[in-house]
Amino acid sequence: MKSPIVVCGTGIVGMALALTLARRGQAVTLLGPKLQIASAETDDFHPRVYAISPASQLFLTEIGIWPLLPEARLTRVQAMEVYGDAGGRVDLSAWQDARSELAWIVEASELERALIQAVQIVGVPWLSDKFSSIAQRTVTTFSGATLAADLLVGADGAQSPVRQALQLSTEEHAYGHTGVVAHFTSELPHLGAALQWFRQEGVLALLPLPDTSAGHQVSMVWSLRDDLANTLLALPFSDQADYLRNHLALATQGRLGELSLRSEVLGFPLVMSKSPMIGDGVALVGDAAHRIHPLAGQGLNLGLGDAQALVSVISEREDFRSAGDPMVLRRYRRARAEHLMAMRWATDGLHRLFDNPSQPLSWVRNLGMDLVNKLPFIKRRIVSGASG
Ligand SMILES: Cc1cc2nc3c(=O)[nH]c(=O)nc-3n(C[C@H](O)[C@H](O)[C@H](O)COP(=O)(O)OP(=O)(O)OC[C@H]3O[C@@H](n4cnc5c(N)ncnc54)[C@H](O)[C@@H]3O)c2cc1C
Repeated sequence: MKSPIVVCGTGIVGMALALTLARRGQAVTLLGPKLQIASAETDDFHPRVYAISPASQLFLTEIGIWPLLPEARLTRVQAMEVYGDAGGRVDLSAWQDARSELAWIVEASELERALIQAVQIVGVPWLSDKFSSIAQRTVTTFSGATLAADLLVGADGAQSPVRQALQLSTEEHAYGHTGVVAHFTSELPHLGAALQWFRQEGVLALLPLPDTSAGHQVSMVWSLRDDLANTLLALPFSDQADYLRNHLALATQGRLGELSLRSEVLGFPLVMSKSPMIGDGVALVGDAAHRIHPLAGQGLNLGLGDAQALVSVISEREDFRSAGDPMVLRRYRRARAEHLMAMRWATDGLHRLFDNPSQPLSWVRNLGMDLVNKLPFIKRRIVSGASG
């Protein structure tokens, strides 16, 4: 039985969800602004890049998105080096879990371009407007259009107007850190390794990207204390480049040689949030439903996992139930509960563990890292877990 579904939000999660629902024969409409993605320049990389887990890659392959991504813009992460703040270290390799990669690094713009293309090819109806309100299973847009919806999905990001309209209570906790992102030319090649340093001022990650004509390239995600981040973001480009060259040299101990800034520097506020995931005739997915610290690079992967779970419960529902039936929605919430809790617990816990300046704790956590590094079984579990 066809039951009208409106997916509100045209980010990566919303588009992936609408596309998958349409491919499963569901009556879905996408509601949100149409994006204009400029064509990619060879040496120019989008400032937002994502670590895509093997589970998300499989999902994107199943819905026909992965083959649309240009190979030259994808980077395999084959190893990970994680450094503590007092000499601790953990090395992870894809081969420890018999995999060819731990994750892929992909630009946001490439995923968006492929999704827009696929949504058009499959013919998903797309109303380029914004959600305004919902009453009696009817969605009203900013421009006054109305859409019938047995199920309204809020895929409309961290501020989720859908979540707010339904007055779904959300627990939020600002980390007091900003995610500072930028791309660099590195003197030494990354060799497919993602590098991460847990430091007092925040967690620094350098993710591998394809080489450019200027040399080797990496992308930085630095969860920096708000005061330090604001100072950095307010500087002119040349001062940012000097500041970052010096600070990264110190933080990375020259692991990739000199790092030269080659992109604008952007900052994103870091917040942990969780919502009830469902309401009356409403399901939330992606950042509308939850946000976690980016230290594990899992936020978008969680959103894609939500999309998969929601499509499963909708497709497998009994004939007499609508897509927004409370039982269907409870199945969705149940399907996600354990994984979301585990990821929140892991990312929040790691952040707290390393954010604490206590000397004995510093000693314990670095010793713990060295211990983990000597235990292949534990490392295999970590690699397997991170792969989704
Ligand atoms: C610094 C940093 C690094 C990160 N790195 C990673 C990583 O490596 N890997 C990873 O998996 N995740 C990562 N994340 C998390 C990731 O960025 C988010 O989880 C992901 O972008 C959320 O996607 P989304 O589609 O849910 O939301 P969004 O991308 O915010 O999309 C929401 C959409 O809703 C639309 N919208 C808003 N209001 C309305 C309305 N009224 N009506 C209709 N549409 C509306 C918006 O236009 C937008 O298109 C990182 C996050 C940060 C901050």
